[in-house]
Amino acid sequence: MKAVVIALGGNAILQHRETGTAKEQLANVQKAARQIAMIAGEGCAVAVTHGNGPQVGDILLKNELAKETLPPMPLDICGAESQGMIGYMLQQSLGEALRKAGIDRPVATVLTQTLVDGDDPAFTNPEKPIGPFYTQVQARRLREEKGWRMVEIPGRGYRRVVPSPRPVALVEERAIARLFSTGTIVIAAGGGGVPVVADSKGALRGVEGVVDKDLTAALLARLVGADDLLILTDVERVALNYGRPDQQEIAEMTASEARAHLAARHFPPGTMGPKIRAALNFLEAGGERATIAPLEGAYRALSGRAGTRIRP
Ligand code: ADP
Ligand code: MG
Repeated sequence: MKAVVIALGGNAILQHRETGTAKEQLANVQKAARQIAMIAGEGCAVAVTHGNGPQVGDILLKNELAKETLPPMPLDICGAESQGMIGYMLQQSLGEALRKAGIDRPVATVLTQTLVDGDDPAFTNPEKPIGPFYTQVQARRLREEKGWRMVEIPGRGYRRVVPSPRPVALVEERAIARLFSTGTIVIAAGGGGVPVVADSKGALRGVEGVVDKDLTAALLARLVGADDLLILTDVERVALNYGRPDQQEIAEMTASEARAHLAARHFPPGTMGPKIRAALNFLEAGGERATIAPLEGAYRALSGRAGTRIRP
């Protein structure tokens, strides 16, 4: 049985121009679910992971707006909350898409903690912007009261930045691997998983940070022994000179070509960069194919008919 890990971009669930109602998000998740069901229908073992940027941003804003009435929750708990809400929508939509296709497969979400290294250099250099925009006055107060690191985003205000440490392992890896091996479609490591550090006795503690979901997808793919890593986003193909008049879309490339383009700065940090890195990590660990494709092209991408395929 072919094993596939599918990573859904945050945009696949909540598009930038949308307002974020439950109805909108559910409709987008249903689109993703239909693609995933078609892939499962080919007899593939499937694990799904997803981004949570827009959702966790909304949760943080709700906490902020309600703080005079209820104590705001720390980022790790907000991240767990987002895994629950997205996992629920995916479980329900996927269950329905499978039922309609006459495919009898269980679906379950594993709320996942991602182990990170407390000495990761990201902790001394937080770079990932999260949550709402603030005024200069609010930003100064948050810096003083909470010790948050705030950065100015020209023309838009101030935003909190948090560390984005490298994922080391999934705490729930044995549970995920067992479910996967019995044919369950496992939804795991949403938003990259909740980052946790272990003390000298092995006790875990949540940290205020965000793990990149693409890098965690590569870790998940290795864990389940995937043949294919499918990273779904909102562009038709990976391109060279992206967004410029001489933009050139790539249908297929080797890992060494991808590495060269990465070094030549065709894939920026925070967007395409981590997807290419995730693909390379997966292929270096023995994966067969990594494909970056648009959500609607997921099923076709699996047979090389959509997206950008990267080979070892
Ligand atoms: P996701 O939520 O799916 O992770 P991201 O916004 O992080 O989405 O990454 C996808 C975005 O990467 C695209 O919408 C595109 O604007 C951007 N991008 C940057 N460089 C490239 C490139 N070389 N080729 C294609 N897309 C690129
Ligand atoms: Mg992204």
